[in-house]
Amino acid sequence: LLPEFDVIVLGAGAAGMMCAFEAGRRGRRVLLLDHGERVGRKILISGGGRCNFTNVHTRAENFLSANPHFAKSALARFTPSDMIALVEKHGIRYHEKTLGQLFCDDSAQRIVTLLERECGEAGVEIRCGVKVNTVRRESTLAHATKFIVETSVGDFTCESVVVATGGLSIPKMGATGFGYELAQQFGHSLVEPRAALVPLVFAPEDRERWCDLSGVSFEVMARAGASGKAKSRPQTTPEFREKLLITHRGVSGPAVLQVSSYWKPGEQVRFDLAPSREVLASLLEKNARREPASLVSALRTVLPARMAERWVAAQPSHDWTNTGIARMEAELHAWTLTPAGTEGFAKAEVTVGGIDTSELDARTMESRRMPGLYFIGEVVDVTGWLGGYNFQWAWASAVSAGSVA
Ligand code: FAD
Repeated sequence: LLPEFDVIVLGAGAAGMMCAFEAGRRGRRVLLLDHGERVGRKILISGGGRCNFTNVHTRAENFLSANPHFAKSALARFTPSDMIALVEKHGIRYHEKTLGQLFCDDSAQRIVTLLERECGEAGVEIRCGVKVNTVRRESTLAHATKFIVETSVGDFTCESVVVATGGLSIPKMGATGFGYELAQQFGHSLVEPRAALVPLVFAPEDRERWCDLSGVSFEVMARAGASGKAKSRPQTTPEFREKLLITHRGVSGPAVLQVSSYWKPGEQVRFDLAPSREVLASLLEKNARREPASLVSALRTVLPARMAERWVAAQPSHDWTNTGIARMEAELHAWTLTPAGTEGFAKAEVTVGGIDTSELDARTMESRRMPGLYFIGEVVDVTGWLGGYNFQWAWASAVSAGSVA
């Protein structure tokens, strides 16, 4: 006879651990499997090692999904306040860094320990270093229909399978496409997975023009998909007012990571280099010296010196008439680039796209195609902005499934 569980959770990351103890608390016999050597590896490297575990301003608008309403039910059921209560129950000290982002005061390890303790108290059996080979559905005379989970350490049987194997980002941390393959095996469709929250790479001519400024950083208002070749969705993507960082291959920093989730190949990205500021007004004054040095010093009020100088040098010509100055002011607010690509899954914090939500129950995360099969966390086509939203989705979707699976 095969070892029997009520629930088997595949993937011991943020979503899988939360779901496992939620189900365990209900008295379910839960097995949590991961092919890595330890649980919660991405949590440990998250938020620069301090884990930005939630965002107090979380709303469905902070997520990308083919169905923007899908996440609402789960997010309402387990809110940032619920996560804060859990963190406080474990005596973990935290602080708000910026824009509602909550981080641990000391280490992300605290969040992993919280999840491990809750799993322990709920009687969850955790097994790491176990490769899941296949999952199949089987009816026998002895049992009602069950799932058989075939692994590198033998087969297990259960009533419910929860897939929490995450997305494709950072393969060296154990990311695989296993969840997508399993979903497809049971008839689910995918929204094409793409690297997101990822640095953008410049085309060679822009790299030559800007990338020796690598390390220079300044605040911008950023937006993806602003006109360009793919004109299908102009002005529909949100704007982000955060820092941009020039890298040796392109651009990064929070503003760029945010827009990267919305960017599609061939599209432009646009940066306002002086959000809500009129920078060149001083050049329009009577007696103003209309010359490159005055332009640089006006720009230095909003940009680091090296960027101000480079921006002036990069102008094809300088027209010192009022109209010319107005044009330069307009260009400053619309620095437009067409990236050659992204740094890919190796550097992406998350995967946008995933299992199509139209085939999942938004209240329970259960498959509409296969009763007893659940998908939670990043493997689902719900992707948060930078700032604690992805963990909040992992927790919330996990609780939704864990309370019924
Ligand atoms: P994961 O945490 O990826 O867990 C999936 C688990 O499944 C892994 O343990 C993996 O080993 C296991 N697995 C995969 N395939 C198999 C298989 N075939 N068999 C068995 N096990 C398998 N989000 C935030 O909200 N705040 C942050 O501060 C933050 N910082 C981040 C920093 C970095 C560098 C990265 C890469 C991501 C960050 N994120 C952050 C995003 C966040 O980590 C993820 O969205 C979140 O971890 C997703 O949780 P998950 O449980 O769905 O998947």
